[in-house]
Amino acid sequence: MLRAAVVGSPTALIVVAPDRKVLLWNPAAEHLFGWTAAEVVGLEMPIVDSSARRESDQLLADSTHGRDLQGVEVRRRHRDGHPVEVALSTAPLHNGDGQVVAVLAAYQDISARKSAEAELIRQARMDDLTGLVNRQGLLEEINHPASSRRQVAVIAIDLDHFKQVNDAFGYLVGDEVLGAVAQRLLNSVRPEDVVARLEGAAFAVLMSGVRSRSLEQVVSRLLQGLTKSYQVEGREIDIQVTGGVAVQYRKELPAEVVRRAGVALHYAKQVSRGSFQVLDEALDRAFQDRIELSTGLRGAAQRGELRLYYQPIVSASTGDPVGYEALVRWEHPERGLLGPDKFIPLAEESGSISGIGRWVLKQACTTLRDWSAADPAAADLTMAVNLSVAQLQDRGLVQDVRAALAETGLAPSRLHLEVTESVLITDPGSAARALGDLRDLGVTLAIDDFGTGNSSLTALQRFPFQVLKIDRSFVSGIGTRAEDTTIVAATLALAHGLGLKVVAEGVETQAQADLLIRDGCEELQGFLFGRPAPATSISPLFTAHHVQAQPARLSA
Ligand code: C2E
Ligand code: CA
Ligand code: CA
Repeated sequence: MLRAAVVGSPTALIVVAPDRKVLLWNPAAEHLFGWTAAEVVGLEMPIVDSSARRESDQLLADSTHGRDLQGVEVRRRHRDGHPVEVALSTAPLHNGDGQVVAVLAAYQDISARKSAEAELIRQARMDDLTGLVNRQGLLEEINHPASSRRQVAVIAIDLDHFKQVNDAFGYLVGDEVLGAVAQRLLNSVRPEDVVARLEGAAFAVLMSGVRSRSLEQVVSRLLQGLTKSYQVEGREIDIQVTGGVAVQYRKELPAEVVRRAGVALHYAKQVSRGSFQVLDEALDRAFQDRIELSTGLRGAAQRGELRLYYQPIVSASTGDPVGYEALVRWEHPERGLLGPDKFIPLAEESGSISGIGRWVLKQACTTLRDWSAADPAAADLTMAVNLSVAQLQDRGLVQDVRAALAETGLAPSRLHLEVTESVLITDPGSAARALGDLRDLGVTLAIDDFGTGNSSLTALQRFPFQVLKIDRSFVSGIGTRAEDTTIVAATLALAHGLGLKVVAEGVETQAQADLLIRDGCEELQGFLFGRPAPATSISPLFTAHHVQAQPARLSA
């Protein structure tokens, strides 16, 4: 009965005696392993696969002692040598006395499932469009022992403005270009190098064993090869590529070196598209630094880490302060007091500028209110606050200014808002709208850093400014560089012609002050009169004697 059942089963079944001799070997087993029953019955079981000898012994021993196997996945070999993936189950066969006389082994062929799994794994690391490996595949390749023994470099490559190709010619053409790029990359690297498509128009090449000295040359040639025109469907398509290169540090994780190649790419794009950048340690540190600062900046206002310093602006005729400019600082928990040039550009990029700007506005107005409350003579002082381009583009700005004025009860004209000249050029539309709205609130508007932005005085006329601040770079050259002296005099004359009051920034010497006063500059600001300082160390109504000495000397 057993024999009949075993022989008739569609599953590969083998019956083995405790001494490992094969007792039964059914047709399904013949088919699965390629050995016929006539060839193996009576022989020791592992004849079919000597490599599985120990394993087979163990299985037999286990099954004889009542530990059956249930679908254990093992690999066997077919007689012709190819691997056969099987799930093995065993059961003991007892005689009437309950003794184990043989073990029945059932082998289920799972090769089809295994190869489907392998295909899925392969697909998960492949890019369908180009047939290259994808990001996952690239990471695995970097991990591959073959690359780990040699110096590895990852080159991240972006096709610049590739969207325009898709927009102009359609996705089919775009896809063909991507395929052609893949092919060119494959053709220009060595067989052991790996080309990957990371996403969209982003590719990467993994090179091993490239000497640092020749790296730049290799990359340059690789990228140049990509920029020769592509012939697709009778069209000639030109593309530009930008690259970023990172060399793997010792023990650096694959994802990390790919990330750093991306950082290098990011830098290259900022410096100039169509070029490439190798990420050395200094560049990497600078980037990490920026990320850290940018992250820390997000909650700086809420955590109370921002400080305002105030610098006096004095009247050219009396030397008395007419107002102050609020200048922000960041008391960084680890790095100490940071100046605005260290974090304002970052805040503009990352969007945290509006929160910082709101805090500055509120704090500056509060300080001015407190000074006025403490001394009625301070009731005419003004407070200047700097606005960045991003703030002018933010529709909430006018509401923030209105709120700051309402909360502190200040007369709007005492608040001076300073914007740099570049604002008028980068986004004249939003600038005009925002400045118009602010002017309607009654605040005073000043154009900052005048002379650095190449805007003309006629452009100036279109915006509702009342104050012009001459940039420090011109003031510092007064009296020593002839052209600066001329520019300052001309700016003063033209500003006055347009009805603007002029403040000179960065006045450091008496000689500079003298010349500015002679040319009719109304107000002066600079280290000569006072450095920016916290509100607690300022007596707001001091008098600057540098200015009072002036008339006597002029007449001399
Ligand atoms: P700014 O508006 O031109 O501010 C004047 C800068 O010149 C200040 O630098 C000030 O300390 C410096 N300064 C003043 N007098 C002299 C002088 O006699 N000699 C020299 N060498 N320097 C002088 P600070 O505080 O480092 O600010 C730099 C820039 O950061 C400011 O230039 C302004 O554009 C920006 N900034 C400062 N606070 C804020 C803020 O709250 N919001 C925004 N958006 N930007 C701000
Ligand atoms: Ca300013
Ligand atoms: Ca300025």
